[in-house]
Amino acid sequence: MLNYKFLAEHDPEVMAVVKKEMKRQIEEMEMIASENYVSKAVLEAMGTVLTNKYSEGYPGHRYYGGNQVIDEVENIAIERAKKLFSAEHVNVQPLSGSPANAAVYFAFLKPGEKVMGLRLDHGGHLSHGHPVNFSGMLYNFVQYEVDSETGKIDMEKVREIALREKPKMIVAGYSAYSREIEWQKFKDIADEVGAFTFADIAHTAGLIAAGEMNNPVPFFDVVTTTTHKTLRGPRGAMIMCKERFAKQVNRAVFPGMQGGPHDHINAAKAVAFGEALKPEFKIYAKQVVANCKVLSEEFIKRGYRVISGGTDNHLIVVDMTSKGLLGKEAEVILDRIGISVSRSTIPNDPNPPMNPSGVRFGTPAITTRGMKENEIRKIAEWINDAIEQKEEIELLDKIRIEVKEMCERFPVPSI
Ligand SMILES: *Cc1c(COP(=O)(O)O)cnc(C)c1O
Repeated sequence: MLNYKFLAEHDPEVMAVVKKEMKRQIEEMEMIASENYVSKAVLEAMGTVLTNKYSEGYPGHRYYGGNQVIDEVENIAIERAKKLFSAEHVNVQPLSGSPANAAVYFAFLKPGEKVMGLRLDHGGHLSHGHPVNFSGMLYNFVQYEVDSETGKIDMEKVREIALREKPKMIVAGYSAYSREIEWQKFKDIADEVGAFTFADIAHTAGLIAAGEMNNPVPFFDVVTTTTHKTLRGPRGAMIMCKERFAKQVNRAVFPGMQGGPHDHINAAKAVAFGEALKPEFKIYAKQVVANCKVLSEEFIKRGYRVISGGTDNHLIVVDMTSKGLLGKEAEVILDRIGISVSRSTIPNDPNPPMNPSGVRFGTPAITTRGMKENEIRKIAEWINDAIEQKEEIELLDKIRIEVKEMCERFPVPSI
């Protein structure tokens, strides 16, 4: 196990908690679609002295002295990101996905202007116009949906809404959508109504960087991504855009939304982008998708309803009412056997968001541990046994031990 020697001596109370979390990560299986394990190098970069620096501004234009080295780090991150996504301009300073999205709206829109985004309960994100989020409060969002039959986005319907509503911006890219996105069609519709195109690839960025999914960066106006999901970097985000929007995007991030960038995190982003440029990362991303397809097939085989009938990426949303329970109950049962998942709404969910019908499963983290198709089949069997025989305490205990044993055979590379 990683030993944080100085932390342990200096603050045993905090170290004790960190240790407990390390143990949990080592012994349990992480199937939350937005999570992953960073490499040791990324962890180390986050712990560097770069955290001590203030560097408001951008490389070559800082509001503080002593930033020559910080400029170099930020430029490495920018150059690698450009290469990964074929981007014209990159801003690596956004602190996380939601602030990055806030900066995009701020850069392109005036408060009250109309934006089109996918409904949260159909797979969208809070920051795509939900009423409890700043996005829904400050901008006039009209929401599109997935088709209730296919579970997929119906581009004809998107076009109809766009022609009727004439939004200033159309948002595509989601949190709980398992299918390829027709970026070109979004772009055509946006051009037809004179809207900006904004892609939020927070979930799929790693798969896109590896060429496993289509890349919106070359033809969308602006694209945001988190860096900590499939991209397997530190917690954070970035914005990519066409050169002609570079100034307004930069200004929106700083001084518009944020103060000083987190330079230690930006160093870790540079490291993660470097890793994503390597051939091994392509193999990883391919396996993430292959694993998820197997997981989906295994569920379908056992009578579960998988939304959209399958997956093209790293996640699936499963309707648990097809097995007579709700998402939260399934989440608790799976916690009991050492598998972490997140409950999720399903399209047109008859149940409330706090107690929705579905569970979202993802394969990025377990694939980082090296698990492949055979392990996935076993995991699906455990999940199904636990769900179908949830009253059998002895069985649940036995599965918990088997899960732990598999985790021991596939250690988290960085811990
Ligand atoms: C995760 C996610 C975000 C938000 O990222 P945070 O870093 O949690 O703020 C934004 N958009 C989408 C589509 C996401 O899935």
